[in-house]
Amino acid sequence: MQIGSDLEIGDDHFVVMAGPCAVETADQLGTVALAVAAAGASMLRGGAFKPRTSPRSFQGLGRAGLELLAEASRRTGLPVVTEVMDPRDVALVAGHAAMLQIGSRSMQNFPLLREVGKAGVPVLLKRGAAATIEELVLASEYVRGEGNDAVVLCERGVRSFDPSTRYLLDLAAVPLLRERTDLPVIVDPSHGTGRSSLVAPMAKAALVAGADGLLIDVHAAPETALCDGQQALRPAEFAELMAELRRLVPLCRRRWSRPAAADRLAPTPLDDEVIAP
Ligand code: PEP
Ligand code: MN
Repeated sequence: MQIGSDLEIGDDHFVVMAGPCAVETADQLGTVALAVAAAGASMLRGGAFKPRTSPRSFQGLGRAGLELLAEASRRTGLPVVTEVMDPRDVALVAGHAAMLQIGSRSMQNFPLLREVGKAGVPVLLKRGAAATIEELVLASEYVRGEGNDAVVLCERGVRSFDPSTRYLLDLAAVPLLRERTDLPVIVDPSHGTGRSSLVAPMAKAALVAGADGLLIDVHAAPETALCDGQQALRPAEFAELMAELRRLVPLCRRRWSRPAAADRLAPTPLDDEVIAP
C-alpha cells in the first residue's frame, strides 16, 4: 500500500510515524519534525483537530495547525498523518495531509468512515478503546465500501480494570488481525500505555509481534505539552529507540520504509551511529 508519492507500508515494509500528540506552535512542531526526520522516521504525525475528553482542554489549532503540518512536511519530506473528526472537514484535512487518521473515539462514526472512504486518501483507523477486533474490521469495511482499500489498522490499547497504564495494549491483536484481514497493522505504544517509560519496550515488542509500523508521540519538552506529555518521548529517547528498531527490522524480515525526499533531506542514520543525548 502506498502513502503519499512513494512511501510503502505493508508486505515487508515497516514505517514509523512520529511527532507530537497535538500541533501547538510553529516552533514546537518544527523542532519535533526535524528531530524525528533526523532519527529516520517515515511520517510526521500531529493533531490539529483534537478529540479531548473535556471541552475545556486544548482542542487543537484547527486549520492553522494543518498549515503548520503541511509546511513541516515540505521541510522534512515526511508525509503527514493527522486526525479528522468531522465529516465536513474531510476535504480540508485531505488537502493538507497524505493520510487521514480516524481516532479511537470516532472508530464507529459511520458517516465519517464513509466520507474518508470517498476522499480516496489512505486512512489510519484506530481501534476504539472498547471495540472488539471484529468491530474494528467491520469499521474498516465502511471505508472500503466506498472504494478505498488503502486502510491501515492501528492497535492503541483497550480499557482495562488496572489504572497502572492508561490503556491495556493488546499486542495479540496484531497477529490476530493478520489472520483476519489483508490490511497493514500498526501499533501505538504511546496512547496504548500512556507512560513514556513503556513506549520503547512495547514498540520493539510490536515489531516482533508482526506490526507493519508504529505511531509514536514525540515532544521536545513533554512537561510543557498541551496534550499527553506523560507519554511523549524526548527527541533523544526517540532517536535511541529508532537505532534499536533499525537493528531489529531486518531480523523480523522487514525493510525500513521511507520516502525518497526524507532520505535526501535527512539521510537515515547508519546502524552503528552513536546518537548523542
Ligand atoms: C491520537 O493519536 O492523536 C489520538 C487522539 O489517539 P486515540 O484516538 O487512539 O486516543
Ligand atoms: Mn494523544
